[in-house]
Amino acid sequence: MTIDDDSLEYHRESPPGKIEISTTKPTNTQRDLSLAYSPGVAAPCREIDMDEARAYDYTAKGNLVGVVSNGSAVLGLGDIGAQASKPVMEGKGVLFKRFADIDVFDIELDIDDPDAFVQTVTGMEPTFGGINLEDISAPECFELERRLSEQMEIPVFHDDQHGTAIISGAALINASKIAGKDLSDLEIAFAGAGAAAIATAKFYVSLGVEQDNITMCDTGGILTTRRAEAGDLDQYAREFARDLPDGDLADAMDGADVFVGLAVGGIVDQEMVQSMASDPIIFAMANPDPEIGYEKAKSARDDSVIMATGRSDYPNQVNNVLGFPFIFRGALDVRATEINEKMKVAAAETLAELARKDVPDAVVKAYGDQPLQFGPEYIIPKPLDSRVLFEVTPAVAEAAMESGAARTSIETDTYVEDLEA
Ligand code: NAP
Ligand code: MG
Repeated sequence: MTIDDDSLEYHRESPPGKIEISTTKPTNTQRDLSLAYSPGVAAPCREIDMDEARAYDYTAKGNLVGVVSNGSAVLGLGDIGAQASKPVMEGKGVLFKRFADIDVFDIELDIDDPDAFVQTVTGMEPTFGGINLEDISAPECFELERRLSEQMEIPVFHDDQHGTAIISGAALINASKIAGKDLSDLEIAFAGAGAAAIATAKFYVSLGVEQDNITMCDTGGILTTRRAEAGDLDQYAREFARDLPDGDLADAMDGADVFVGLAVGGIVDQEMVQSMASDPIIFAMANPDPEIGYEKAKSARDDSVIMATGRSDYPNQVNNVLGFPFIFRGALDVRATEINEKMKVAAAETLAELARKDVPDAVVKAYGDQPLQFGPEYIIPKPLDSRVLFEVTPAVAEAAMESGAARTSIETDTYVEDLEA
């Protein structure tokens, strides 16, 4: 049996798919039903009609996220459309539930027109406490997220952009510590100028990287001001155009402290790794095959190479599941209006801090007793480490309260106890 066969059977087993609705209130008696529905249900309707915020008290809104996609950039499968994207969106729902007990409606929209997409999603605001945009192609994803965030009073978060940014940002904080370099001094070469790369580069600047130290490449080579002036770059890539001579990825990596790969597999060779500065940091995050493999990058040099990939079979997996469940949990619990930069930075810094703490035995066991101790082979926490929930979630909630995004406040100590319960 291959993994494909196993997966088809897993999905086909009755009932088909991966999710179902369950009720949270008693439904045994006639009276229960007349509370759940007519006539009793009119009472909460009237309450919410008087004050919309009471929807958080009387409905599931505050624990419900819409995972919304148009299927235009699904995993590595490309534009397979809304219907074919449904297993992925259901799967995202499974992860929200498993890691943060958040309920999800998966919403696959067969809508290409951006105006119609925005109108449809904004119209769903009454249903949800937050919107997770998923697998929407660049550059449309930037514009859609911006417009939806502006128009909606609930968080809108495109995970393919910010998830990667936040988790790899945590990895960057720790990798630079290990390499003994300041974030503000790092010269960073990016392969890729798409959804994930643009968002990641912007987030690194929020963490303290100098934008002028970022050199970004797409299939046309380095993003230069000449290419920008020639109309060769979209408005998002243009922001990262540098006043440099034309060049390729090898030129960008020459002397760089950090390589960030969010492009395609196999485009980096050992010579390019050898041209980098001392103790280089290499985040080769193309899936399923990284820009350069773990062993190949490590063996290219005699000094320390700090390596992360998107893969679970090597150390330092940059896995979005370390972020979105906890970021949404924290945002929902303070009824946040947005997931802003301060909340994202809080998530990354807390993840980084957690990786510097001792790892409980239970977590070590769950990962087959491999040594997990802060260092080049362990710069970000493991997804099955339950401490991520107890640390990242309150940090995000606190950042929401401090930055004015929270509609309610919580007391952090009792909140952590509630999360642990
Ligand atoms: P995207 O929006 O399609 O962007 C891909 C970018 O890569 C484009 O800018 C493209 O340039 C560039 N590119 C392609 N081939 C290249 C080459 N040979 N040299 C330099 N640049 C090249 O895709 P995305 O959503 O940002 O994802 C990009 C990659 O990151 C995928 O492999 C994805 O699996 C991975 N990713 C990983 C994670 C994770 O770890 N954990 C999360 C998100 C994404 P053009 O515009 O010139 O075509
Ligand atoms: Mg995705």
